[in-house]
Amino acid sequence: MEFYEKQQAFFLTQKTRNLSFRRDALKRLRNEIVKQEDAIAEAIYADFKKPRFETFIAETQFVLAEINTMIKNLEFWAQPERISGNLANFPSRNYICREPLGQVLVIAPWNYPFQLIMAPLVGAIAAGNTVVAKPSELTPNTAEIVKKIIQNVFDPEHVAVVLGGVEVSQELLSKRWDHIFFTGSPQVGRIVYESAAKHLTPVTLELGGKNPCIVDETASISLTAKRIVWGKSLNLGQTCLAPDYLLVHHSVKDKLIQKLKDKIVEAYGENQTESQDLARIVNERHYDRLKSLLKGQHILYGGETVDEDNFIGLTLIDEPDLDSPLMQGEVFGPILPIFSYKNQSDIDAIVKRYEKPLAAYLFSNKRAAQKEFIARYGFGGGVINDTVIHIANKKLPFGGVGHSGVGAYHGKTSFDVFSHKKAIVKRGRWIDPPLRYAPYKLPERIAKWVKYLF
Ligand code: NAD
Repeated sequence: MEFYEKQQAFFLTQKTRNLSFRRDALKRLRNEIVKQEDAIAEAIYADFKKPRFETFIAETQFVLAEINTMIKNLEFWAQPERISGNLANFPSRNYICREPLGQVLVIAPWNYPFQLIMAPLVGAIAAGNTVVAKPSELTPNTAEIVKKIIQNVFDPEHVAVVLGGVEVSQELLSKRWDHIFFTGSPQVGRIVYESAAKHLTPVTLELGGKNPCIVDETASISLTAKRIVWGKSLNLGQTCLAPDYLLVHHSVKDKLIQKLKDKIVEAYGENQTESQDLARIVNERHYDRLKSLLKGQHILYGGETVDEDNFIGLTLIDEPDLDSPLMQGEVFGPILPIFSYKNQSDIDAIVKRYEKPLAAYLFSNKRAAQKEFIARYGFGGGVINDTVIHIANKKLPFGGVGHSGVGAYHGKTSFDVFSHKKAIVKRGRWIDPPLRYAPYKLPERIAKWVKYLF
């Protein structure tokens, strides 16, 4: 890994501090992605048959929008930020200066294999860092095209790609970095955190969890069903933000289930296996894991599986046992458990069994219920009356809380996460009140005013 030392030396040349250098790098990356758009879609399709439109909105266009945001705002975000002074340091000018951290390591998962390696990389470059990117080994075709794009655009002393699995990842983690940006499972997140701690390296951990989706009796049921089906079927449920399970008010449960079935048929036809608009499960291991979650469950709809294609159709499960494997970890697939509730404590009894999730959703037309939902439950981010779509606003920080993640990114938040905020006070010299200097002989009647200095 000779690029590691090369990047170290390159960072010290201070070239990445230059804003034109960063802007040019981002523009070259943008041009290359536009040029390779078809190849990217083909690679992701080859990996797990992600529909082209989903690749367009959630992979390439998502990353291009992130690049454009950086190019547009770079100059402004990198300016020293003027902060008001206080009496203790009067007279002075106070600033926050954002400076690059240094060498950044980005490790990505397989489910959005282009977006999740590129979006953090874009933020790290915009903030003036060098980057080593490690895509997931489970989506090898996408990893190859990511490598090609990066090699076409950057010198390895600035940005390098390393392909490989767990061993390569661990070798990278054994080195000292200035920031590690990891997206993946909470289990591996823990390993990354431990490795980073050895060098006191700051981390961003973008993890997952069991995302609840609550539907109360006032929700607009048809629209609710359509938006839940969309959020759950995107990437065939292999989305960190997908609703993991539903909690439905008992009075509207039957109606919602009927509408969910209708919306699945509207979108994917009577035979989901024939739909061109559903991805496949990424590999046999995950397929077998998901298939085994269906065992012993009461299937309300779906349940189709195609072994040779790693395909499982969108499946609705009625009131699974909370101790069953389906309700232990993140589902991360097209299976949707449905529970009914009568009151708030029924909801609490399920939601609070789990660590704080990455996302939570409420469908309700009641203002008070919406307010209560936001205040009552801990989660990374959420949507009222829709699913997943909060990720589309780059002005909102994207990240988890507790076991679903540490830190956040996207847009300005990305620029900040890859920058050190250096606090600077520039003192004036024309006056120097004696108050703080020894010998401390202030009369008591004056000393009591000292507290107002801060
Ligand atoms: P994963 O944790 O298995 O793998 C992620 C990366 O870590 C891969 O590059 C892999 O090579 C590496 N890795 C795996 N085991 C390792 C080990 N023992 N030591 C060091 N590195 C290791 O995750 P995955 O299966 O690729 O992705 C699914 C998970 O990612 C889900 O939990 C999902 O919720 C989460 N996720 C979160 C977000 C988010 O933005 N918060 C986005 C997508 C996925």
